[in-house]
Amino acid sequence: MRATPGPIDRFLADLHARLSGLTGGAPATYIPELGKADPALFGIAVAMVDGTLYTAGDAAHRFTIQSISKAFVYGHALDRLGREAVLRHVGVEPTGESFNSISLDEAHNRPFNPMVNAGAIATAELIEGDDPIARQAALAALMERYAGRRLDLDETVYHSEKATGHRNRAIAWMMLNSGMIKRAPEEVLDLYFRQCSLLVDARDLATMGATIANDGINPRTGARALAREHVPDVLTVMNMCGMYNYAGQWSYEIGLPAKSGVSGAILLVIPGQAGIAIYSPPIDANGNSVRGVAAAGEIADAFGLHIFGTH
Ligand code: GLU
Repeated sequence: MRATPGPIDRFLADLHARLSGLTGGAPATYIPELGKADPALFGIAVAMVDGTLYTAGDAAHRFTIQSISKAFVYGHALDRLGREAVLRHVGVEPTGESFNSISLDEAHNRPFNPMVNAGAIATAELIEGDDPIARQAALAALMERYAGRRLDLDETVYHSEKATGHRNRAIAWMMLNSGMIKRAPEEVLDLYFRQCSLLVDARDLATMGATIANDGINPRTGARALAREHVPDVLTVMNMCGMYNYAGQWSYEIGLPAKSGVSGAILLVIPGQAGIAIYSPPIDANGNSVRGVAAAGEIADAFGLHIFGTH
């Protein structure tokens, strides 16, 4: 942090103070452990591509990354196998169906996109490594390149998800049945549950977004996390499919590629400029953080960030 608060610090502090009073929504409970989150938690972090970090509120509070991990793992699959090969496993079509829908794009014999659970489970199978331990190591190394530090696993959330994730099991077995995944479903799911249960705080997440914004290079460490050529692919999918069934309206109103997670976090990327992370556990009927959506709207408006806005 800088010694003296500047205009961005003051803007974030004011926004945080005002939106702290916003109620509505509730923490997700379908993963029992997530239901224990304190609804008052609210943190914002903005990481610029020059390495500057701005924060407000509970930006150091850790939470599980959940679905936001899907964007990074998709990028890893693209880097590892290339666009054409990845497209054989997962499409790039928005679905309009719920994130955990037990459905596939039968016409192409693949999940619709990597941001719904079916697509994310298929993408998790593409993580590099010859055995489960090597794949866990590749996942940890990937996320470390993005965050600039090693991320811990929240063992309690991981076990909570593993014990109750039967809908994801149904999706994985359905994909085994149609040949979309090849390995044992339980093993692919284990890696998927692990990727969702990695602990980040808003500062980590903003840095991960800034890494995408910075053409794939972590601005704080200089490590490359994503090939430059795949940055537009990841951002495009986030833009179309990252906000559950609110993705269209989000794009219309806020106009920035983003990914939401059921723990109550939202990551936004301002291409070429910054990553923004907002964390607040109460989520709305679409699965998006109530304070997160409100804060993102205010930030995008105040700074004229809509990617199709007039400048
Ligand atoms: N691990 C969660 C699941 O698969 C992720 C959901 C989410 O954040 O959208 O149900």
